[in-house]
Amino acid sequence: MVKLKPCPFCGGKAEIREYSQGHSGNGDYTARYKCGCDKCKIFFDKESLFRLVDGQPKFEKNGFEDATNAWNNRPEIENSDAEQEGRE
Ligand SMILES: [Zn+2]
Repeated sequence: MVKLKPCPFCGGKAEIREYSQGHSGNGDYTARYKCGCDKCKIFFDKESLFRLVDGQPKFEKNGFEDATNAWNNRPEIENSDAEQEGRE
């Protein structure tokens, strides 16, 4: 699974969830993802667009990855001067 950075405001655990699905009628499916902190009500909201090929989703846009990347690459808030990047 994807590792999410903690919330920059409360330090709590971030979550990603799918909250809507649909399809456009021509074989394309959509799904929306929210990645962020429930407590602080901050989210990145991204959409997936894909079609099924042999039962597997073939992504045009991957909202899950977009949302997690957006969250993990957001500008850092300065609350720990000692923290360095790239030390996962
Ligand atoms: Zn928070």
